[in-house]
Amino acid sequence: MVDNFDVVIIGAGPGGYVATIRAAQLGLRAACVDAWLDARGKPALGGTCLNVGCIPSKALLDSSHHYHNVRHLLPAHGIEAGDVKLDLRKMLARKDKVVRTLTRGVAGLLRKNKVESIAGLASLKGGGRVEVAPHGSGDVRALTARHIVLATGSVPIRIPVAEVDGDRIVDNEGALAFSEVPKRLGIIGAGVIGLEFGSVWGRLGSEVTILEALDDFLPAADRRVADEALKVLRRQGLDIRLGARVTGARLQGDAVLVGYEDAGGARECEFERLVVAVGRRANTEGLDPAAAGVELDDHGRIVVDEHCHTTADGIWAIGDAVAGPMLAHKASEEGVAVAERIAGRAAHIDHDIIPWVIYTHPEIAWVGKTEAELDAAGIAHREGSFPFLASGRAQGSGETDGVVKVIADAATDRILGVHVFAANASELIAEAVVAMAFDASTEDIARTIHAHPTLAEAMHEAALAVDGRAVHI
Ligand code: FAD
Ligand code: AMP
Repeated sequence: MVDNFDVVIIGAGPGGYVATIRAAQLGLRAACVDAWLDARGKPALGGTCLNVGCIPSKALLDSSHHYHNVRHLLPAHGIEAGDVKLDLRKMLARKDKVVRTLTRGVAGLLRKNKVESIAGLASLKGGGRVEVAPHGSGDVRALTARHIVLATGSVPIRIPVAEVDGDRIVDNEGALAFSEVPKRLGIIGAGVIGLEFGSVWGRLGSEVTILEALDDFLPAADRRVADEALKVLRRQGLDIRLGARVTGARLQGDAVLVGYEDAGGARECEFERLVVAVGRRANTEGLDPAAAGVELDDHGRIVVDEHCHTTADGIWAIGDAVAGPMLAHKASEEGVAVAERIAGRAAHIDHDIIPWVIYTHPEIAWVGKTEAELDAAGIAHREGSFPFLASGRAQGSGETDGVVKVIADAATDRILGVHVFAANASELIAEAVVAMAFDASTEDIARTIHAHPTLAEAMHEAALAVDGRAVHI
């Protein structure tokens, strides 16, 4: 049996399922194929983000934040909670329930949009043909489509010096499900994922050591924010060791012995568990891109032009499987844009204003350029910043760590970058993204009334500070 569609989308992560829904909204006959199986071996939509990424990690970050606050923040507010106990099983079960609710929600959305959702591994056959091998037994299903969208996402990078065994040595999936709080937890990589898991387990009681090969902390972030974040995270108890390249990891009894090299020579640490968080790579396993003339680059990413079109006619690719930041909202926006283009509409994504967020506490968020990038490009700029120590709202809530920094073009005052380290930076950054999407100047933010008392006032003050007019500092 051959099924014929206007568009077949391969992958139901935030790239693929959003592309599918938008295609259906535009009147295209769409099918979405996805291979994900949950821990019980059942198909689950939502990809990495909903199953083992953004959503479960944020659920645990929030739970662990509550636990930490009850023990360490509430006493300063005059609240004594007594003997606070951790029920880790319940915390993990809650996280699993959040995941189930949302992955089922995606299935519901696809149904509502009358999209055919097909479980199984898709491979390209050329000439607009896709074959889907079902899970378990059953016939291979042949699909044809005028357009194919590849949204196959990413998988963790494996390093031979620390092979994941799924028990003592885990990747991001295992780090979501430790059955006990490890006494000593090692993490390789101080990137987004390493810092988020370090925060979760550190708050729950682990002694966390993060080994990072680079000498710089968060090289993609602005230096002021990165330096302040490093100071605060270390103060929280995360033992972040920079310039520490891991050279080996072996099991000995119940322990993981990790060897690494830093400026002082070779060293060894002992942990109960080790998380390998050294990044992710594009996933095209089982897809057979070459069969359809889809080229990959040297990093294994699907090559696309600025419209997300691959090297093969009628085949598009989006999200983690292509170049660019591995972020859910980037995948989704590319998904929408591709669906629009397939439907014959114009679509544009401004890749220069994609917000980044790291969900430590305080959170780290930014959009646009850093000062270092502007210096390297020879663009004259001015900056203004405002520390939360001077914010009335931050004082009231006892969340005074952090800063907002606004960078503007020296000649035109156009905002070029905004960098936030703050309790709710993930929400504050939205104002900066909107401002930049409208080509706003710092004067535009300076003239915009911000409610008092709010943390968002720090954005206002930082914009005023660009022109030396901050009021409260
Ligand atoms: P994916 O979500 O990876 O989905 C791809 C889907 O395609 C999967 O379901 C896969 O099974 C399926 N598939 C692959 N090949 C085939 C095939 N041949 N046939 C059928 N199906 C196939 N991003 C954020 O923006 N914010 C965050 O807070 C955040 N937190 C994260 C935390 C962690 C621990 C991790 C690991 C990632 C996090 N990310 C976060 C990144 C985010 O998860 C990814 O950027 C996002 O999931 C990419 O979406 P995607 O649709 O491209 O791919
Ligand atoms: P990210 O790409 O943001 O997930 O971050 C992954 C981090 O892991 C990067 O900062 C890498 O420098 C770091 N890393 C990769 N390999 C090693 C290694 N062998 N030892 C220590 N850190 C590593």
